[in-house]
Amino acid sequence: MLKVAKFGGSSMADAGQYRKVRDILVSDDARRVVVVSAAGKRDKNDHKLTDLLYLCYAHLQYGVDCTPVFDMITSRYLEIRDDLKLELDLETEFAELKQQLIAKQITQDALVSRGEYFSAKLMAAFLGFQFVDAADWVKFNMDGSVNEETSYAALKNAVKGAGIVTPGFYGVMPNGAIRTFSRGGSDITGALAAAALDADVYENWTDVSGILMADPRIVENPQPIPEVTYDELRELSYSGAQVLHEGTIFPVREKNIPLNIRNTNAPDDPGTMIQESFDTDADPNLFITGITGKKDFTIISLSKRGLSNEIGTLRKVLSVLEKYNISVDYVPNGIDSVSVVVSTEAIANDLYSVLAEIQQDVHPDSLEVQDQIAVVAAVGRRMAFRPGTSGKVFAALGQAGINIRMINQGPDELNIIFGVDNKDFAEAIRVLYNSFVK
Ligand code: ASP
Repeated sequence: MLKVAKFGGSSMADAGQYRKVRDILVSDDARRVVVVSAAGKRDKNDHKLTDLLYLCYAHLQYGVDCTPVFDMITSRYLEIRDDLKLELDLETEFAELKQQLIAKQITQDALVSRGEYFSAKLMAAFLGFQFVDAADWVKFNMDGSVNEETSYAALKNAVKGAGIVTPGFYGVMPNGAIRTFSRGGSDITGALAAAALDADVYENWTDVSGILMADPRIVENPQPIPEVTYDELRELSYSGAQVLHEGTIFPVREKNIPLNIRNTNAPDDPGTMIQESFDTDADPNLFITGITGKKDFTIISLSKRGLSNEIGTLRKVLSVLEKYNISVDYVPNGIDSVSVVVSTEAIANDLYSVLAEIQQDVHPDSLEVQDQIAVVAAVGRRMAFRPGTSGKVFAALGQAGINIRMINQGPDELNIIFGVDNKDFAEAIRVLYNSFVK
């Protein structure tokens, strides 16, 4: 049994968190491969080391002395080392790095990657595990995608010790230059390590007890989702829930490795299990998996008598949007009417040109625009087998006096999506949560 355990920034924030990580690893000897983020915030007013590293690089760019920021960064690591009483020489590497900075001989990616690098060095020393540099196994192709075959082989080759620690977030280009993933990318490194070593589980340790059923800024103390399928997760993230870096799923899904989100600060909580499918349901009565959504959409609606018999109208509308490079989120339609729902930000600059072209190409009887629309999605794999779910959703919203501006259900019946006014967004989510979960 092998578990790859990735620890996020909050789990690496100070020596106390390092001790929690060690206890988690000691409690299960299947946890032998550890991927770490750079130190995160210790409290609300603190800084993430990655942010400080970007700031340090910005100083360099503008020719401003970056020593104060650099010292803040190095002192965080020295503090962790000294608190844990580790005999690890970091000073020599810090001095070399500073030389490179002064000489401006370092790229932004190489500099910010040091956050993860030093975290992993410290954690490896603390655990007595082998340090495996991500530069030695995460290999990018020229186009920025990961070369999975060579990366997986390189990691398998590099593992010598019983346990290893490797930094998240970065790898190397074919010419050896360091390249980072986009922000939050240590999740991807963890998934790649799990796939490379054919792990039984990929554990992603963070500071919440799993993916929550609704946004905690809107719903008070939402329950964590015990089990979610990859498809549901995709719906939840597409519609607004920020969970994992979007590149995380592919490597583990491809190898059918379950992904378990866990809480370093509450290690006994089971967290959220993410899998392709589940044989039985943890709670069969809970037929909504999660409720999510986003504000600020624009709906363009057109109607035309006889539209249903006309061929090519929808194509014409979509071609106009394609021409302006605007992604279409939903296309609800009636018999003689059709709407397209797009993000307001995406269409903002081109709205009037788009309308003019639709007018010209389609000659609708009416063409209307509504903005300030929020999209709310109730996601759940069990909804397809439950007649009456949408009825209940709309009844609950109706009772709360929330006007529904648009309704859409995906063909796979994984979600019910509806539009409300921006001002009703939070209330709509609360109403659904309270009627289906509590
Ligand atoms: N440290 C990086 C960031 O803050 C990557 C990560 O933690 O996943 O984005």
